[in-house]
Amino acid sequence: MFDNLSEKLDKALHVLKGHGQITEINVAETLKEVRRALLDADVNFKIAKEFTNTVKEKALGQDVLTSLQPGQLMVKLVKDELTQLMGGDVEGINLSGAPSIILMSGLQGSGKTTFSGKLANFLQTKKSKKALLVACDVYRPAAIDQLHVVGEQIGVEVFSDRGNTDPVAISKAGIAHAKANGFNVVIIDTAGRLAVDEQMMNEIANIHKAIEPQETLFVVDSMTGQDAVNTAKAFNDVLNFDGVILTKLDGDTRGGAAISIKSVVNKPIKFIGTGEKMDAIDVFYPSRMADRILG
Ligand code: GDP
Repeated sequence: MFDNLSEKLDKALHVLKGHGQITEINVAETLKEVRRALLDADVNFKIAKEFTNTVKEKALGQDVLTSLQPGQLMVKLVKDELTQLMGGDVEGINLSGAPSIILMSGLQGSGKTTFSGKLANFLQTKKSKKALLVACDVYRPAAIDQLHVVGEQIGVEVFSDRGNTDPVAISKAGIAHAKANGFNVVIIDTAGRLAVDEQMMNEIANIHKAIEPQETLFVVDSMTGQDAVNTAKAFNDVLNFDGVILTKLDGDTRGGAAISIKSVVNKPIKFIGTGEKMDAIDVFYPSRMADRILG
Protein backbone atom coordinates (compact mmCIF):
# COMPACT_ATOMS: atom_id res chain seq x y z
CA MET A 1 0.00 0.00 0.00
CA PHE A 2 1.07 3.57 -0.65
CA ASP A 3 3.87 2.21 -2.84
CA ASN A 4 3.84 5.23 -5.02
CA LEU A 5 4.25 7.77 -2.27
CA SER A 6 6.55 5.57 -0.24
CA GLU A 7 8.90 4.91 -3.12
CA LYS A 8 9.05 8.54 -4.13
CA LEU A 9 9.69 9.85 -0.63
CA ASP A 10 12.28 7.20 -0.13
CA LYS A 11 13.96 8.15 -3.35
CA ALA A 12 13.84 11.84 -2.48
CA LEU A 13 15.34 11.25 0.92
CA HIS A 14 17.98 8.96 -0.47
CA VAL A 15 19.08 11.75 -2.75
CA LEU A 16 19.53 13.89 0.32
CA LYS A 17 21.29 11.14 2.24
CA GLY A 18 23.70 10.63 -0.65
CA HIS A 19 25.07 14.16 -0.52
CA GLY A 20 28.33 14.57 1.36
CA GLN A 21 27.41 18.08 2.29
CA ILE A 22 23.86 19.33 2.52
CA THR A 23 23.03 22.81 1.45
CA GLU A 24 19.88 24.86 1.70
CA ILE A 25 19.43 24.23 -2.01
CA ASN A 26 19.57 20.46 -1.44
CA VAL A 27 16.90 20.75 1.23
CA ALA A 28 14.68 22.80 -1.05
CA GLU A 29 15.20 20.37 -3.93
CA THR A 30 14.43 17.39 -1.76
CA LEU A 31 11.30 18.97 -0.38
CA LYS A 32 10.19 19.66 -3.91
CA GLU A 33 10.44 15.92 -4.51
CA VAL A 34 8.52 15.24 -1.32
CA ARG A 35 5.81 17.66 -2.44
CA ARG A 36 5.62 16.08 -5.87
CA ALA A 37 5.30 12.65 -4.26
CA LEU A 38 2.47 13.89 -2.04
CA LEU A 39 0.69 15.40 -5.03
CA ASP A 40 1.12 12.18 -7.00
CA ALA A 41 -0.53 10.35 -4.11
CA ASP A 42 -3.54 12.66 -4.47
CA VAL A 43 -2.80 14.83 -1.46
CA ASN A 44 -4.52 18.18 -1.75
CA PHE A 45 -2.18 20.78 -3.28
CA LYS A 46 -2.50 23.30 -0.47
CA ILE A 47 -1.81 20.67 2.19
CA ALA A 48 1.25 19.36 0.38
CA LYS A 49 2.61 22.89 0.06
CA GLU A 50 1.99 23.71 3.72
CA PHE A 51 3.54 20.42 4.70
CA THR A 52 6.79 21.00 2.87
CA ASN A 53 6.99 24.59 4.08
CA THR A 54 6.67 23.46 7.68
CA VAL A 55 9.28 20.75 7.22
CA LYS A 56 11.62 23.23 5.58
CA GLU A 57 11.30 25.73 8.41
CA LYS A 58 11.88 23.03 10.98
CA ALA A 59 14.78 21.58 9.02
CA LEU A 60 16.56 24.90 8.82
CA GLY A 61 15.64 25.76 12.43
CA GLN A 62 17.12 22.50 13.65
CA ASP A 63 20.41 23.01 11.88
CA VAL A 64 19.94 20.12 9.50
CA LEU A 65 22.64 21.69 7.36
CA THR A 66 25.30 21.37 10.01
CA SER A 67 24.12 18.16 11.69
CA LEU A 68 26.26 15.04 11.40
CA GLN A 69 23.45 12.95 9.96
CA PRO A 70 21.30 15.37 7.97
CA GLY A 71 19.54 12.62 6.03
CA GLN A 72 18.31 10.89 9.18
CA LEU A 73 17.22 14.18 10.68
CA MET A 74 15.21 14.97 7.56
CA VAL A 75 13.58 11.53 7.56
CA LYS A 76 12.58 12.07 11.19
CA LEU A 77 11.24 15.54 10.48
CA VAL A 78 9.19 14.36 7.51
CA LYS A 79 7.86 11.41 9.49
CA ASP A 80 6.97 13.45 12.56
CA GLU A 81 5.26 16.08 10.48
CA LEU A 82 3.33 13.47 8.49
CA THR A 83 2.22 11.88 11.78
CA GLN A 84 1.00 15.24 13.05
CA LEU A 85 -0.80 15.90 9.81
CA MET A 86 -2.70 12.63 10.15
CA GLY A 87 -3.78 13.30 13.69
CA GLY A 88 -1.01 12.97 16.26
CA ASP A 89 -2.28 10.84 19.15
CA VAL A 90 -4.53 7.83 18.69
CA GLU A 91 -8.20 8.73 19.17
CA GLY A 92 -10.73 6.37 20.77
CA ILE A 93 -14.50 6.35 20.42
CA ASN A 94 -16.94 7.68 22.96
CA LEU A 95 -18.64 4.80 24.78
CA SER A 96 -20.01 6.85 27.67
CA GLY A 97 -23.70 6.53 26.81
CA ALA A 98 -26.15 4.03 28.29
CA PRO A 99 -26.40 2.74 25.67
CA SER A 100 -23.77 4.45 23.52
CA ILE A 101 -25.23 5.33 20.16
CA ILE A 102 -22.98 5.21 17.11
CA LEU A 103 -24.34 6.59 13.84
CA MET A 104 -22.67 5.46 10.62
CA SER A 105 -22.68 7.76 7.60
CA GLY A 106 -21.16 7.67 4.14
CA LEU A 107 -21.82 6.96 0.49
CA GLN A 108 -23.23 3.67 -0.79
CA GLY A 109 -20.43 1.18 -1.30
CA SER A 110 -18.05 2.96 1.06
CA GLY A 111 -18.17 -0.02 3.41
CA LYS A 112 -20.65 1.19 6.05
CA THR A 113 -22.48 -2.09 6.53
CA THR A 114 -19.28 -4.12 6.58
CA PHE A 115 -17.69 -1.71 9.03
CA SER A 116 -20.78 -1.65 11.26
CA GLY A 117 -20.34 -5.39 11.64
CA LYS A 118 -16.60 -5.12 12.22
CA LEU A 119 -17.10 -2.45 14.89
CA ALA A 120 -19.83 -4.47 16.66
CA ASN A 121 -17.53 -7.50 16.62
CA PHE A 122 -14.57 -5.43 17.85
CA LEU A 123 -16.55 -3.88 20.71
CA GLN A 124 -18.04 -7.22 21.68
CA THR A 125 -14.84 -9.26 21.60
CA LYS A 126 -12.24 -6.65 22.61
CA LYS A 127 -14.23 -4.32 24.86
CA SER A 128 -16.78 -6.75 26.34
CA LYS A 129 -19.71 -4.65 25.12
CA LYS A 130 -23.10 -6.02 24.16
CA ALA A 131 -23.78 -4.47 20.76
CA LEU A 132 -26.98 -4.10 18.73
CA LEU A 133 -26.94 -3.40 14.99
CA VAL A 134 -29.84 -1.37 13.58
CA ALA A 135 -30.71 -1.50 9.86
CA CYS A 136 -31.92 1.90 8.66
CA ASP A 137 -31.55 1.58 4.89
CA VAL A 138 -35.23 1.68 3.97
CA TYR A 139 -34.59 1.82 0.21
CA ARG A 140 -32.72 -1.41 -0.36
CA PRO A 141 -34.14 -4.62 1.16
CA ALA A 142 -30.83 -6.24 0.18
CA ALA A 143 -29.02 -3.89 2.56
CA ILE A 144 -31.17 -5.10 5.46
CA ASP A 145 -30.48 -8.71 4.46
CA GLN A 146 -26.77 -7.94 4.28
CA LEU A 147 -26.73 -6.59 7.84
CA HIS A 148 -28.58 -9.69 9.06
CA VAL A 149 -25.99 -11.91 7.38
CA VAL A 150 -23.20 -9.90 9.02
CA GLY A 151 -24.95 -10.08 12.41
CA GLU A 152 -25.28 -13.86 12.15
CA GLN A 153 -21.60 -14.21 11.26
CA ILE A 154 -20.45 -12.39 14.38
CA GLY A 155 -23.24 -13.38 16.76
CA VAL A 156 -24.67 -9.88 17.12
CA GLU A 157 -28.41 -9.17 17.16
CA VAL A 158 -29.77 -7.05 14.29
CA PHE A 159 -32.82 -4.84 14.72
CA SER A 160 -34.85 -4.14 11.56
CA ASP A 161 -38.41 -3.26 10.60
CA ARG A 162 -38.95 -4.17 6.96
CA GLY A 163 -42.33 -2.52 6.40
CA ASN A 164 -41.24 0.77 7.91
CA THR A 165 -40.04 3.52 5.55
CA ASP A 166 -39.11 6.04 8.24
CA PRO A 167 -35.45 5.70 9.26
CA VAL A 168 -35.89 8.09 12.21
CA ALA A 169 -38.65 5.89 13.64
CA ILE A 170 -36.60 2.71 13.05
CA SER A 171 -33.50 4.13 14.75
CA LYS A 172 -35.56 5.31 17.74
CA ALA A 173 -37.26 1.92 18.02
CA GLY A 174 -33.84 0.24 17.81
CA ILE A 175 -32.50 2.38 20.65
CA ALA A 176 -35.61 1.66 22.75
CA HIS A 177 -35.07 -2.06 22.09
CA ALA A 178 -31.43 -1.73 23.18
CA LYS A 179 -32.40 0.06 26.39
CA ALA A 180 -35.03 -2.52 27.24
CA ASN A 181 -32.65 -5.42 26.64
CA GLY A 182 -29.42 -4.35 28.28
CA PHE A 183 -27.33 -3.49 25.20
CA ASN A 184 -24.32 -1.19 25.84
CA VAL A 185 -23.83 -0.05 22.27
CA VAL A 186 -26.20 0.62 19.36
CA ILE A 187 -24.68 0.88 15.89
CA ILE A 188 -26.99 2.47 13.35
CA ASP A 189 -26.32 1.61 9.70
CA THR A 190 -27.89 4.15 7.36
CA ALA A 191 -28.71 4.41 3.65
CA GLY A 192 -26.05 5.80 1.35
CA ARG A 193 -26.21 7.09 -2.19
CA LEU A 194 -23.71 6.78 -5.00
CA ALA A 195 -23.00 10.51 -4.73
CA VAL A 196 -23.79 13.28 -2.29
CA ASP A 197 -27.40 14.43 -2.75
CA GLU A 198 -29.73 16.65 -0.80
CA GLN A 199 -32.28 14.00 0.10
CA MET A 200 -29.66 11.70 1.60
CA MET A 201 -28.10 14.57 3.53
CA ASN A 202 -31.49 15.65 4.89
CA GLU A 203 -32.28 12.10 5.91
CA ILE A 204 -29.04 11.52 7.81
CA ALA A 205 -29.27 15.00 9.34
CA ASN A 206 -32.79 14.17 10.61
CA ILE A 207 -31.66 10.87 12.11
CA HIS A 208 -28.69 12.63 13.72
CA LYS A 209 -30.89 15.30 15.25
CA ALA A 210 -33.48 12.83 16.52
CA ILE A 211 -31.14 10.33 18.22
CA GLU A 212 -28.25 12.57 19.35
CA PRO A 213 -25.54 9.93 18.97
CA GLN A 214 -22.44 9.89 21.19
CA GLU A 215 -20.42 9.16 18.11
CA THR A 216 -21.09 9.94 14.46
CA LEU A 217 -18.67 8.20 12.15
CA PHE A 218 -18.08 8.95 8.50
CA VAL A 219 -17.04 5.94 6.42
CA VAL A 220 -15.03 6.55 3.28
CA ASP A 221 -13.43 4.34 0.66
CA SER A 222 -9.72 5.19 0.67
CA MET A 223 -9.46 4.27 -3.01
CA THR A 224 -11.50 7.33 -4.03
CA GLY A 225 -8.62 9.83 -3.76
CA GLN A 226 -9.55 13.51 -3.89
CA ASP A 227 -13.24 12.60 -4.05
CA ALA A 228 -12.89 11.15 -0.56
CA VAL A 229 -11.94 14.59 0.70
CA ASN A 230 -14.86 16.30 -1.06
CA THR A 231 -17.33 13.74 0.29
CA ALA A 232 -15.90 14.08 3.79
CA LYS A 233 -16.35 17.83 3.62
CA ALA A 234 -19.98 17.52 2.44
CA PHE A 235 -20.89 15.12 5.26
CA ASN A 236 -19.01 17.11 7.87
CA ASP A 237 -20.79 20.32 6.88
CA VAL A 238 -24.11 18.63 7.64
CA LEU A 239 -23.25 16.31 10.53
CA ASN A 240 -20.16 17.79 12.19
CA PHE A 241 -19.10 14.15 12.62
CA ASP A 242 -16.69 12.89 15.28
CA GLY A 243 -14.41 10.65 13.32
CA VAL A 244 -13.50 9.06 10.02
CA ILE A 245 -13.27 5.39 9.05
CA LEU A 246 -10.97 4.73 6.11
CA THR A 247 -11.91 1.49 4.41
CA LYS A 248 -10.27 -0.70 1.76
CA LEU A 249 -6.74 0.13 2.80
CA ASP A 250 -5.85 -3.42 1.81
CA GLY A 251 -6.39 -2.55 -1.85
CA ASP A 252 -4.13 -0.84 -4.31
CA THR A 253 -4.86 2.50 -2.74
CA ARG A 254 -3.09 5.81 -2.67
CA GLY A 255 -2.09 7.60 0.52
CA GLY A 256 -3.71 10.92 -0.25
CA ALA A 257 -7.02 10.36 1.48
CA ALA A 258 -5.47 9.56 4.87
CA ILE A 259 -3.35 12.66 4.77
CA SER A 260 -5.85 15.12 3.33
CA ILE A 261 -9.11 14.25 5.11
CA LYS A 262 -7.84 15.02 8.58
CA SER A 263 -6.51 18.41 7.54
CA VAL A 264 -9.54 19.41 5.48
CA VAL A 265 -12.28 18.48 7.97
CA ASN A 266 -10.08 18.57 11.09
CA LYS A 267 -11.54 15.31 12.42
CA PRO A 268 -9.53 12.29 13.48
CA ILE A 269 -9.32 9.07 11.52
CA LYS A 270 -10.35 6.50 14.13
CA PHE A 271 -10.33 3.09 12.46
CA ILE A 272 -9.23 1.54 9.21
CA GLY A 273 -10.77 -1.30 7.23
CA THR A 274 -8.25 -3.72 5.78
CA GLY A 275 -10.37 -6.40 4.13
CA GLU A 276 -13.83 -7.86 3.69
CA LYS A 277 -13.70 -10.18 6.70
CA MET A 278 -15.17 -9.20 10.05
CA ASP A 279 -11.79 -9.09 11.79
CA ALA A 280 -10.20 -6.82 9.15
CA ILE A 281 -10.40 -3.73 11.36
CA ASP A 282 -7.59 -1.78 12.99
CA VAL A 283 -7.36 1.26 15.20
CA PHE A 284 -5.77 4.04 13.15
CA TYR A 285 -2.26 4.86 14.33
CA PRO A 286 -0.95 7.99 12.59
CA SER A 287 2.67 7.11 13.31
CA ARG A 288 2.26 3.62 11.87
CA MET A 289 0.64 5.09 8.80
CA ALA A 290 3.52 7.56 8.45
CA ASP A 291 5.96 4.64 8.71
CA ARG A 292 4.10 2.81 5.98
CA ILE A 293 4.03 5.88 3.78
CA LEU A 294 7.73 6.47 4.21
CA GLY A 295 8.59 2.77 3.85
P1 GDP B 1 -22.10 0.19 2.15
O1 GDP B 1 -22.92 0.33 0.90
O2 GDP B 1 -21.46 1.50 2.53
O3 GDP B 1 -22.83 -0.43 3.29
O4 GDP B 1 -20.85 -0.74 1.78
P2 GDP B 1 -20.64 -2.32 2.05
O5 GDP B 1 -20.33 -2.55 3.48
O6 GDP B 1 -21.75 -3.09 1.45
O7 GDP B 1 -19.28 -2.54 1.25
C1 GDP B 1 -19.19 -2.43 -0.16
C2 GDP B 1 -18.19 -3.46 -0.68
O8 GDP B 1 -16.90 -3.16 -0.18
C3 GDP B 1 -18.50 -4.87 -0.22
O9 GDP B 1 -18.23 -5.75 -1.29
C4 GDP B 1 -17.53 -5.10 0.93
O10 GDP B 1 -17.19 -6.46 1.08
C5 GDP B 1 -16.35 -4.27 0.49
N1 GDP B 1 -15.52 -3.79 1.62
C6 GDP B 1 -15.92 -3.10 2.71
N2 GDP B 1 -14.87 -2.79 3.50
C7 GDP B 1 -13.76 -3.28 2.88
C8 GDP B 1 -12.34 -3.27 3.18
O11 GDP B 1 -11.86 -2.73 4.20
N3 GDP B 1 -11.52 -3.90 2.27
C9 GDP B 1 -12.01 -4.49 1.14
N4 GDP B 1 -11.14 -5.05 0.31
N5 GDP B 1 -13.32 -4.50 0.83
C10 GDP B 1 -14.19 -3.91 1.68
